[in-house]
Amino acid sequence: MPIYDFKCKNCDHRFESFTSISRRDEVTCPKCGGPVERVYEGKWSVGIRPGGAGSSGGCSCGGNCAGCSGCGGG
Ligand SMILES: [Zn+2]
Repeated sequence: MPIYDFKCKNCDHRFESFTSISRRDEVTCPKCGGPVERVYEGKWSVGIRPGGAGSSGGCSCGGNCAGCSGCGGG
């Protein structure tokens, strides 16, 4: 099961809840029992990076592209 980030609408308490998708809407604040909202911090988008062919950031040859066919010196 995934971990969801929540924030209490009542007291702004932030917490994570290890719950199933079907029950995520039933989560309430552990401090005051108030209603909560999902918090999206983009942690699930980590790993999606721009670039690819032609990107200078992905070169693993250390600048010596003579022996590298991946980052293309020419
Ligand atoms: Zn609360």
